[in-house]
Amino acid sequence: MSLIVTGSIGIDTVETPTGRREGVVGGSAVYFAYAASFFAPVRVVGVVGEDCPADYLDVFANRPVDVSGIERRKGSKTFRWSGSYVKDLNEAVTVQVDLNVLAEQAAKVPDRFLDSRYVFLANTHPALQQATLAAFKTSKLVVADTMNLWINTERAELLKLLKKIDGLVLNDGEARMLTQKKNLVAAARDVLKMGPKFVVIKKGEHGCLMVSANDVFVLPAFPADQVIDPTGAGDSFAGGMMGYLTTQGTFSPATLKRALAFGTVIASYTISDFSLAGLQRTTRDQIDQRWQEFKGAMSF
Ligand code: AMP
Repeated sequence: MSLIVTGSIGIDTVETPTGRREGVVGGSAVYFAYAASFFAPVRVVGVVGEDCPADYLDVFANRPVDVSGIERRKGSKTFRWSGSYVKDLNEAVTVQVDLNVLAEQAAKVPDRFLDSRYVFLANTHPALQQATLAAFKTSKLVVADTMNLWINTERAELLKLLKKIDGLVLNDGEARMLTQKKNLVAAARDVLKMGPKFVVIKKGEHGCLMVSANDVFVLPAFPADQVIDPTGAGDSFAGGMMGYLTTQGTFSPATLKRALAFGTVIASYTISDFSLAGLQRTTRDQIDQRWQEFKGAMSF
């Protein structure tokens, strides 16, 4: 079973109550791919600019991540994002965003990737998400993520995308913004009317909520005692979820719930350090162990 992700590949500057990191590896597709690669091989499609450091993709060395679908575009600049969590660890304030290549045309999906069955459209311009999705004719599961910027500025494109996907992952503030509903269960039901068969609403330190036609499921976050940098928690969550689903070949409610628990556990490693450092220190054995611990913490 083959998993593919497309999304942003970028250079971040992040400030949190514990420190600041400038020019570090970031981007939605990068966090997703690293997290998913604990479970299954991952293909990445995206674009960076000429200015992207030559060693940028070394982060995937020794991981089952195929980066051959990442285009280095001449004359273009890499996506850059600068965010702050100083006021609220649960919500990034975007200090600056330079879309650069994200405002250009989508990367071409290499022919050898067209058989991908599991497709994740990580957060990027919804028109690029649709352009990439159009390439896949035999996909089995398509899930997308989005964010406030696109809900505000590209609503029409986003609504078109929602009609073409099976699942949507977004955070609580974004769900409220998209639906104008304060209550998250009501917001999730409105999202279902827009197209997806299931929606996962991430609530930061309060965990997540999944709603489908017949099911409502909630999970707390893993009770972490220290949050250093929340950047990428959402993308890693989605990576863990999709990576696990790819290994299962079914989307029964029970499988989906286990997948959400793996996503939750992976995100707890991401937030333990800046950029990808937390994930880079983690092993699959640790993930499985923490998954059992998480399960135990919820049984009564
Ligand atoms: P999250 O998992 O939501 O914390 O996502 C964090 C990542 O999203 C950062 O590494 C950013 O580079 C990336 N990002 C921020 N803004 C955007 C945007 N408008 N489009 C795509 N990616 C973004």
